[in-house]
Amino acid sequence: MRILLVEDDALLGDALHVGLKQAGHAVDWVRDGNTANTALASEEYAAVVLDLGLPKRDGLDVLRRARAAQQTLPVLILTARDTVDDRIKGLDAGADDYLVKPFDMGELTARLRALLRRAGGTPVPVLSAAGITLDPATRQVRRNDAAIDLSAKEYALLHILMQQPGRALSRAQLEQHLYAWGEEIGSNTVEVYIHHLRRKLGTDAIRTLRGIGYAVPKEAMA
Ligand code: CA
Repeated sequence: MRILLVEDDALLGDALHVGLKQAGHAVDWVRDGNTANTALASEEYAAVVLDLGLPKRDGLDVLRRARAAQQTLPVLILTARDTVDDRIKGLDAGADDYLVKPFDMGELTARLRALLRRAGGTPVPVLSAAGITLDPATRQVRRNDAAIDLSAKEYALLHILMQQPGRALSRAQLEQHLYAWGEEIGSNTVEVYIHHLRRKLGTDAIRTLRGIGYAVPKEAMA
């Protein structure tokens, strides 16, 4: 999933950036409110981790502007001050959850998982198609009940495709979800990950629709 991280503190931002990447996300890290607004207006994110105290434009303002623009993506706010007032303001402005600094990285990734799950709108979080099951809560992938070990990028790619089985996504669409700004994208990287996924899951797990893109079929082929 592609996440926007908005945090001006270099040390905390770096720790969050690393932690979120380790959790398998593509992360764009910006350090002020204006850049956050620009990023939200131009890119598609699965969620935002938003510090409230920011240079140029504070986090509450970023949040209000995003909600005014009908952006419904989940927002997790980070607040330095443990005051009820701050949290109420944040929730009133449209935040979905908050954490008070200092917090545990494990708790942040767990809360983010819960938000992403709720945003997906599926009461049963386990995705299933073509004989494959993918559980976003545990990041476990199984095919015909055998556990399959995937790298972070392979998992992210499969997760996107399994959210809409039968629907083809182009290479450009997949890259947009898989990579953060400035992250080097090799010219055939998506093809390479697709190749790995097919090797691990079976060649029929992902179909190529020539000139369109890739899709996980709804039903397993006989
Ligand atoms: Ca701050």
